Amino acid sequence: MTDQLPKTIRVSGQVFKIVFDDNLANDEDKFGNVNFRTLTITINGTCPIPVKTDALWHEIIEIINAQNELKLSHNKIQCISNALNQIASDNKDLI
Ligand SMILES: [Zn+2]
Repeated sequence: MTDQLPKTIRVSGQVFKIVFDDNLANDEDKFGNVNFRTLTITINGTCPIPVKTDALWHEIIEIINAQNELKLSHNKIQCISNALNQIASDNKDLI
């Protein structure tokens, strides 16, 4: 997932479309968001690829958090997504 983001991603059996928006919350330092009604993950299109990948992992954990009502804080979601992103990037044959 480091060179290019996939067009869709399946999380817990649901297929989410991945789209890019160059104007996504540029003023808020927000790089991604997920819409559960349309099953769409939107990533800020202006970010470099490592930031986009990080944002995608973040939204994946947001989805798991919401689906399972884990009530994880944004900070914990950030920690878990950063760790998983790092593991995926350090272990290319794993994922
Ligand atoms: Zn978040």
